[in-house]
Amino acid sequence: MLLIRNAEICAPEPLGRADVVVAGGCIVAIGHDLTPGNLVHAVVEAGGRWLWPGFVDGLVHISGGGGEGGFATRMPPLIADDALRAGVTTVIGALGTDDVTRSHADLLATARALHAAHLSAYMLTGSYHVPVRTLTGSIRSDIVLIPEVIGVGEVAIADHRGAQPTADEMARIAAESRVGGLLSGKSGRVLVHVGDHESGLHLLREAGQRHAIGAGHWLPTHINRQQRLLEEGIEWARAGGSIDLTTSTTPALVAAGDIYAADALAQVFRAGIPAAQVTMSSDAQASLPLFDAQGQLLDLQAAPIASLHEDVVRAMHAFKLDRHEVLRTVTRTPAQLWQLPRKGRIAVGADADLLMVDPATLAIEATIAGGVLRWW
Ligand code: ZN
Repeated sequence: MLLIRNAEICAPEPLGRADVVVAGGCIVAIGHDLTPGNLVHAVVEAGGRWLWPGFVDGLVHISGGGGEGGFATRMPPLIADDALRAGVTTVIGALGTDDVTRSHADLLATARALHAAHLSAYMLTGSYHVPVRTLTGSIRSDIVLIPEVIGVGEVAIADHRGAQPTADEMARIAAESRVGGLLSGKSGRVLVHVGDHESGLHLLREAGQRHAIGAGHWLPTHINRQQRLLEEGIEWARAGGSIDLTTSTTPALVAAGDIYAADALAQVFRAGIPAAQVTMSSDAQASLPLFDAQGQLLDLQAAPIASLHEDVVRAMHAFKLDRHEVLRTVTRTPAQLWQLPRKGRIAVGADADLLMVDPATLAIEATIAGGVLRWW
């Protein structure tokens, strides 16, 4: 048991100054002037530091992504400590372009290894490619039978690296995933990688017009990869859909038209889209590719998971966005969209995934993941 005293709690909504008791990996009490008693083995004086929910990072290539420049460009797996130090206590792992040398079995084993290091790790079945590859033979059975599998992704649209699926194929994937989710009490959402092509979200809208597939079946990501797609994403959100912004970018990609997630978030909020419909994710361990005008690959680097925290700081400090709203896009909203009710919030009964944050610098001074405290 652990007692955290005098923390300024962002749950992510403001709860004011309070004490929190953690036991067996759960939050068991929140109140004022709580005393250690016989069972508490450690007391942490927060001294007015902020206590945030641990970040829920909705897209991480946990077993390594990339490989789009040949075998030498395959990116390494996620290191649990890198995530925890960056404030991420829950990750959702996915494959990407490479579903030949990367497998769902490896993804599942990686998720379980991360879990052993106190990082909560889930995964998506499928990959960029359609027809979708799975572990057990179908999307439905992967979601129903494998505890860690909570949906499908990243399925690629509007991208030369995708399988150029039709709206009918996309609708079938969403319906399969949806049924798997219904049968197992999971999200069953489809994370959709949206590439650079001008068709943007067209395929998702077409699937919705022709089939019984609503906007809530999808979560399109990389919406901040260009201004045109961001504006389309805002319209998508106005029509009731949710969107995901990618925090890992590079100055070179920004110069080529990428928008920092914090900048995109400011535009999304200004357009009146609530934080309940926007998430930010790191896309960590993906390769950050840079292509020339002829589509030739110029360079690749691994996307850092720390970019999620960096964009949270940028959104709060540089763009002066409401800190509770910003926090919501990396905690409660992804937890709700991915149907992880014990994640992304500070409440009695929630998992003890917490961050101790310096109010001035927003540096993460300590991470509690699964009830285990680490100072950095
Ligand atoms: Zn992607």
